[in-house]
Amino acid sequence: MIRAKKKFGQNFLIDQQIIKQIIDAINPDSTQSILEIGPGLAALTIPLLNRLNHIDVVEIDTDMVEFLKNNIPSSKITIYEEDILTFEDQRLSEFDFIIGNLPYYISTPILLKIAKSKKNNSGLFFMLQKEVAERVSAVPSTKMYGRLSSMLQYFYEIELLFDIPAGAFNPKPKITSSFVRFTRRNPEELNALNNDNYERVIKLAFQQKRKTLKNNFKGILDDNDFLNLSIDPSIRAETLSVHKFISIENYLTQRKLSF
Ligand code: SAM
Repeated sequence: MIRAKKKFGQNFLIDQQIIKQIIDAINPDSTQSILEIGPGLAALTIPLLNRLNHIDVVEIDTDMVEFLKNNIPSSKITIYEEDILTFEDQRLSEFDFIIGNLPYYISTPILLKIAKSKKNNSGLFFMLQKEVAERVSAVPSTKMYGRLSSMLQYFYEIELLFDIPAGAFNPKPKITSSFVRFTRRNPEELNALNNDNYERVIKLAFQQKRKTLKNNFKGILDDNDFLNLSIDPSIRAETLSVHKFISIENYLTQRKLSF
């Protein structure tokens, strides 16, 4: 009997109806390549393999790796016994989809790592804490919209597909979860010039959430710059769309302003 380890964020899916709903949402076809993060006791892996010829997985826990080796033929699965946070970026770009019921203690760093990894065009399907799911999919001027939303929505179109009650897991977590789809945007559609500068703009804009843009960009953008950008300097970052942040990024990048 394998016991769940808290330090690895292990809550195993046990509700067959929910598992079916997740597999139907991913709806993979046998030609697609999939990387699963944290397969654990294969609650999603085995049903996925009913539709796929092969799956790649990354799993940190030796006990889980042992379980996978004993229960899935080696021709069907490639197991990387690794920490996803140090998984090579180049390898992430090899998959059509990256999916997983994420270990919640590191869900934000996982999302940011995958989003920022260059040349990675894979679509993502992740189970997240409902609160994080609401933040990543939030629209401007709502309570949940902030740094994480504007950072991830730069790379992805994000949809919260459905909620999953705590009772679908063993052990039962204290929180509700949600299943979320991330569709990679075409970089040309965004018209952004420099991804690193975009990240800097977001960091600056939200550095003091309650302050105005004028305050957070003090010494970088003056009233005249805001006029050129058609952005009111007295508003807060939480009201700006990704496209407005991109205009700020373009403006600073084109003028080679340091910030
Ligand atoms: N997919 C299984 C399911 O739905 O029942 C297990 C999900 S459980 C919430 C998270 C899984 O991620 C566990 O198997 C855990 O060992 C694994 N994990 C935790 N931290 C990890 C890391 N840094 N890198 C890779 N896997 C990790």
